[in-house]
Amino acid sequence: MDADVLIAGGGPVGLYLAAALLQEGVAVKVLERRQSRNRHTRAIGIHPPALEALAGIQVAASMVREGIRIRSGMAVSGGKTVGTMTFDAVSEDYPFVLALPQFRTEELLEDRVRALDAGALVRGANVTGVRDDGGKVTIAVQSSAGAAVRSGSHNRSATAALLVAADGARSRLRGALGVPVDRKSYPDHYLMGDFDDGSGYGDKAVLFLEPEGIVESFPLPGRVRRWVVRLERPAAPEAGPLELAELVQRRTGFLPDAATNSMLSAFSVRATTARRMVTGRTVLLGDAAHEISPIGGQGMNLGWLDASELVPVICAALAGEPTGRRLRDFEKGRRRAAAVSRRQAEINMLLGRPLPRPLLRVRTAAIGAAAAVPMVNQWAARRFTMH
Ligand SMILES: Cc1cc2nc3c(=O)[nH]c(=O)nc-3n(C[C@H](O)[C@H](O)[C@H](O)COP(=O)(O)OP(=O)(O)OC[C@H]3O[C@@H](n4cnc5c(N)ncnc54)[C@H](O)[C@@H]3O)c2cc1C
Repeated sequence: MDADVLIAGGGPVGLYLAAALLQEGVAVKVLERRQSRNRHTRAIGIHPPALEALAGIQVAASMVREGIRIRSGMAVSGGKTVGTMTFDAVSEDYPFVLALPQFRTEELLEDRVRALDAGALVRGANVTGVRDDGGKVTIAVQSSAGAAVRSGSHNRSATAALLVAADGARSRLRGALGVPVDRKSYPDHYLMGDFDDGSGYGDKAVLFLEPEGIVESFPLPGRVRRWVVRLERPAAPEAGPLELAELVQRRTGFLPDAATNSMLSAFSVRATTARRMVTGRTVLLGDAAHEISPIGGQGMNLGWLDASELVPVICAALAGEPTGRRLRDFEKGRRRAAAVSRRQAEINMLLGRPLPRPLLRVRTAAIGAAAAVPMVNQWAARRFTMH
């Protein structure tokens, strides 16, 4: 399992980085603890800057073919349209936000990794520890049950010049390296679910700004629509598709068909930021470096943009060039990008909080007035699409 670069975690960020490095001729192993992919639809929104990065590893075209191109979004309140935002001017090549379920995104990324190197992704490999001796980095890997039977061993190790920890928000490697984190919790809780789309909104994203809190609604491939409802407290454990459908109806007037529900999830929001991304020969990437609120759909995109900026630095380091300064600049730039995204997500959440009717009317009128000014509208569209 030795390589030039070891990547712990075969989520969207680890897989993207693997494909980008393999294209540059770098020997890569991705160690993923899961034997099979999580089918739960988490991220759905892919923004234009990320699509440009994905085009660089030749997966953007297949994603765009399968996904829904959201070319505009509208804000609705009390049954009336408050404002519309179009993404026409945000990018020449990708004037839309692409909606594709995360598991399908990951499948397409994995196909690309396997096409470049059939043996690069090792499943059932749980990375449990790291040792950096200055000249190389060695990780401890525990095989999960099925993989251990096949390989005849439970514990292995692997060595590389560099290690990338893309092992998600609860990053074990971040803990093993002793990297401190800043955590922030928010008073925002959500219940979300995917239903057959009978809304008539087609490929539009719709935000319902209502006194009890926001309802967000996004199209997905296969005539499916995601509904996300903000709650004042965590959803009751027994809340099911019917409860979500009724909440949507109470706030928006539209009743999703509970019998068609294909995914249901309740989540509360927090932000976790690692105080450093680079420790010796290890770089933290994606959610391992910065978990941000899902509201606004930026986390996965942010991780891909981290990775695309890291690739040339890794290639230079492997070629023996001095990279200390470039790594510091990378870290500074990506921590700044994460802070901007976190702030944007906080604004998105703020706009979705409940308000008494008179105050809601003022807030909604302000949103409508801002949306009516073309320059402000375009600026907001660029911010929303991570430009
Ligand atoms: C409800 C919801 C909606 C979201 N919507 C959006 C959206 O629309 N757009 C967007 O950009 N983002 C969105 N996000 C955020 C997005 O899902 C994450 O930012 C993204 O998954 C991060 O990718 P990652 O590869 O860094 O981490 P992960 O996706 O968490 O992947 C980490 C991988 O590492 C593996 N792993 C963990 N520990 C180990 C170990 N010790 N050894 C080996 N493997 C390990 C895990 O099994 C996993 O496969 C959403 C999140 C949620 C919860």
